[in-house]
Amino acid sequence: MSAKIIDGKAFAAKVRGQVAEHVARLKKENGITPGLAVVLVGEDPASEVYVRSKGKATVEAGMNSYEHKLPAETSEAELLALIDKLNNDPNVHGILVQLPLPKHLNSDLVINSLDPAKDVDGFHISNVGLLGTGQKSMVPCTPLGSLMMLRDHLGSLSGLDAVVVGRSNIVGKPMAQLLLGDSCTVTIAHSRTKDLAGVCRKADILVAAVGRPEMIPGDWVKPDATVIDVGINRIERDGKTKLVGDVQFESAAKVAGAITPVPGGVGPMTIACLLANTVTACCRANGLAEPE
Ligand code: NDP
Repeated sequence: MSAKIIDGKAFAAKVRGQVAEHVARLKKENGITPGLAVVLVGEDPASEVYVRSKGKATVEAGMNSYEHKLPAETSEAELLALIDKLNNDPNVHGILVQLPLPKHLNSDLVINSLDPAKDVDGFHISNVGLLGTGQKSMVPCTPLGSLMMLRDHLGSLSGLDAVVVGRSNIVGKPMAQLLLGDSCTVTIAHSRTKDLAGVCRKADILVAAVGRPEMIPGDWVKPDATVIDVGINRIERDGKTKLVGDVQFESAAKVAGAITPVPGGVGPMTIACLLANTVTACCRANGLAEPE
């Protein structure tokens, strides 16, 4: 193995420490405690785990966490009424609606009912538009965390060839926007891409956000490339449940210059960025200087 392993867990701990310091200052100097409301509809076990860990991290950073667990049969009107209440609650600076929502609820409608200033996931159509036009916005947490690791490892990304595999609104598209914002030459690949292997082999920066276990083998990776593996896939191996990414870690690590592991790469950074976005939202709401 030759690649540097990008330690997302350690980086996330550093970011969370900075968030906690900022929160402590806001409390001491301004008497404000940032608050994050998380809304979960239904009983999806993976979503319950994510919501629990987000709530725990929020409290550990010194912020207020408001959890709203609603039954699966909640109507759209009931959910929109809760969001309206949270939009108007001055103690709530960030609101996150855990996706996926049960099928009878229209996710676009629900997300677009959030106050964009409190949309700490950055999925509201105004934040998407602001990001796309290079204006100040709320940036989606997973791509933001990925970008922070890339900048930390590479310094300037200017002029590098970046390939993002996956074009979802949550990861692939905003990731591509951020890389473009940092002056990369960006290719977005997806399930209809011709010669995906050839496209990946050109990447100085390869971001995999597909959701297919170990789909990208080491021989698709350009020597010395930086690989960000966003995928989180649960598989059965040797009678045990294991988490793996979208990249074949062992073979890719022999070729890449640096690579994020799964677990311990992008995942922890996503939560750290959620906390950072909540502090940013709180500062903006109160006309205070934002964290860097
Ligand atoms: P989606 O299912 O919404 O999108 C997957 C994308 O991958 C689609 O654009 C799809 O293309 C593309 N794709 C699927 N199959 C192939 C293929 N064979 N070749 C090329 N492209 C393909 O997933 P998400 O973006 O929401 O998530 C992606 C992964 O990231 C998942 O494993 C998810 O668990 C993980 N994730 C991790 C997070 C973290 O914190 N680390 C946060 C969010 C997600 P097409 O559009 O053509 O169908």
